[in-house]
Amino acid sequence: KKTNEAKGDKKKETGLGLSTKRDEDFGAWYSQVVVAGDLIDYYDISGCYILKPWAYAQWEVLKEFFDKEIKALDVENCYFPMFVSASRLEKEKDHIEDFAPEVAWVTRSGETDLEVPIAVRPTSETVMYPHYAQWIRSHRDLPLRLNQWCNVVRWEFKHPTPFIRSREFLWQEGHTAYATKEECDVEVFQILDLYRRVYEEYLAVPVVPGKKSEKEKFAGGLYTTTVEAYVPGSGRGVQGATSHCLGQNFSKMFNIEFEDTKGGKSLAWQNSWGFTTRTLGVCYMVHGDDDGLVLPPKVAPIQAIVIPIPNSKLSEDEKKKMTDIADGMTKALKAAGVRSKLDARDNYTPGWKYNHWELKGVPLRVEIGARDMENGTCMIARRDNREKESVSIENLPKRVLELCEQVQKDMFERAKKARDENIVKLMSWDGFVEALDAKKLVMTPWCNTKESENLVKQKSTKESEGGAAKTLCIPFEQPALEPGTKCFITGAPAECWVLWGRSY
Ligand code: AMP
Repeated sequence: KKTNEAKGDKKKETGLGLSTKRDEDFGAWYSQVVVAGDLIDYYDISGCYILKPWAYAQWEVLKEFFDKEIKALDVENCYFPMFVSASRLEKEKDHIEDFAPEVAWVTRSGETDLEVPIAVRPTSETVMYPHYAQWIRSHRDLPLRLNQWCNVVRWEFKHPTPFIRSREFLWQEGHTAYATKEECDVEVFQILDLYRRVYEEYLAVPVVPGKKSEKEKFAGGLYTTTVEAYVPGSGRGVQGATSHCLGQNFSKMFNIEFEDTKGGKSLAWQNSWGFTTRTLGVCYMVHGDDDGLVLPPKVAPIQAIVIPIPNSKLSEDEKKKMTDIADGMTKALKAAGVRSKLDARDNYTPGWKYNHWELKGVPLRVEIGARDMENGTCMIARRDNREKESVSIENLPKRVLELCEQVQKDMFERAKKARDENIVKLMSWDGFVEALDAKKLVMTPWCNTKESENLVKQKSTKESEGGAAKTLCIPFEQPALEPGTKCFITGAPAECWVLWGRSY
């Protein structure tokens, strides 16, 4: 209790900190932490946010990883226009039916109404595929594997949430065409595994890879695979990223036909896949605490912040010496490949700096005080579990590198434990809504029909204030399904296990 009070006082003194506790009001906590953590600024158009350098640098880390991996799969980057004509957008009926309510339209230029309104891309299937039809003539033109890093606009009706659901967001969208379905299937899973790695290896967030139900799959596609994450603070699931097999549906609509090896005509098989700035939001939600963000070292723009702690007894010369040593430590860290920075500003107290870098989620703080200077040591403090240790200045880079790995691993393990503890298995409707209200996800045996999904939606809406549940995915890793098992809601024979939850 004492330490908490002391901390509270410090916060008052520095003017930094969050006024809402995560577990008291998760939504309010999140809206605060994304601003206090220096990630975004709110904008005067609802659902649009300014990504500040602190967030953008993290996006760049994910981008660099993913870009390198897809290039190794022979995917090439390109760029298509952000505008799409109505005739193209509306060509694939299922597709447009799903996206239509969220499409933003340009209807005027200056004072003049456009003769034909132009849409802003919500995704680029209909932008790109008319050109795929021109470029793909023969089996020799396949596979065609393109990706673009860009923004898209979806004028969402649901309450916007920074990173998680915004009206404009950044993403990559891969669009590929193959001669055979087999090749498509292979790629769908290669990409999904990269998405899993974005979450698990970079963001330290465990995900459940699986298949979307028919109701939840990508409009106009053949099947959708997904990685689903869980946010313990709100008890919600979140669709992490999706890799779709489009089948031949779009190639039929857009005439993407090629001459096959036997001289006949065939329709191309296609995939599309994307991950967005939502990934970052999931990471903030999963790891953040009452003192601010907690960033995994692999994405933290600064992994170690070095802070000298001069006391009033030190002479000016000694203070200068301390700053020089701290500067040397920072340089040694950088030379070892650690993203690090020296905070030697003399207009802020060490206490202020601690709060500041804690809010921003920097994984490690390195302090050097007067006694350390005498001993040739420094202190390392972990943001994730607040453990502190003393280390010789000489060994600092080596130890920081070890700790970065350890923190990354510990954060993932903690998140995985929290996730696993909050998935319950139910064989019948009994306890379903109670589990949701207790912030859990639910695994059930399932008959795999749209009717049963609608039924769950209805019943969960009626029986609780917390909102409807939906299927998140049919996990690829399935528990054993005993013969004769019945669907938990309809009583029909169960086909598989499915994961349910409230979701973002
Ligand atoms: P989709 O093209 O609909 O499959 O979307 C690809 C991915 O984008 C989804 O799996 C979500 O993770 C993410 N996403 C969808 N809508 C939004 C949004 N409004 N803001 C941020 N990310 C989104």
